[in-house]
Amino acid sequence: MRKKYMAGNWKMNLLPSTAQDLVESLAVVAPKHTQVIYFPQAPFLGCLQQWNLGKAQFGAQNISSQSSGAFTGETSAELVRALGGQFTLLGHSERRTLFGETSAQLQDKIVAAWKHQLLPILCIGETLEEREDERHFEVIKNQLMESLHGLLPISADLILAYEPVWAIGTGKTASVEQAVEVHRFIRSVLNEMQVGLGETTSILYGGSVNAGNAKELFSQSDIDGGLVGGASLKIEDFRTIIQLQDECLHA
Ligand code: PEP
Repeated sequence: MRKKYMAGNWKMNLLPSTAQDLVESLAVVAPKHTQVIYFPQAPFLGCLQQWNLGKAQFGAQNISSQSSGAFTGETSAELVRALGGQFTLLGHSERRTLFGETSAQLQDKIVAAWKHQLLPILCIGETLEEREDERHFEVIKNQLMESLHGLLPISADLILAYEPVWAIGTGKTASVEQAVEVHRFIRSVLNEMQVGLGETTSILYGGSVNAGNAKELFSQSDIDGGLVGGASLKIEDFRTIIQLQDECLHA
């Protein structure tokens, strides 16, 4: 069975005191089948190593493609690993739209993550305009090809997160049908790239996941968990989301 994840992307929110309260309140949840991951702002990654996270793990919201050197403001994969991080998000739509990250650059970041034993979560997804023009499949395929083609054959672990840009932070969630349709499409593209890759790769859904829609989304066998922004900042909401996902996996 593919591994299941529930990731909280805190974006540029929370201070160490509020974050510690959040993770330590949730440490007791201890889901049986779901790996919980926190993505804090980089400067307090090292704090999470000191706190009681239960079985949860953590990672960076972004890393540099470079190993070290004169890259002011960047964070290296090596440092994230040294501070206890095990994952990195890559290509979140906010990084792509606000900071101009391209799919081609993300290929180098995936290599940097693997080199320092970080498990990358590559985010892909279409904008509202692309969805309305019915170009979402083409856009997603291009994102996958540009980021992954140069890495084939892929033998290291990689997680994908389908995050329709129009659903991130907007309160508009993709319908279950839309999410499942795209997850299946992503699996078919991965299989075209490398036999079997579509079946072995965990694919998360992200975009306005909340306690009300989590059960319906995470009971789908093609959806291997979630990447949650706003609702991951609220202890009760994130607890419910983790528990609902884990219960779906028991059923
Ligand atoms: C995200 O930040 O990746 C995200 C999906 O945010 P939200 O859950 O707030 O839409």
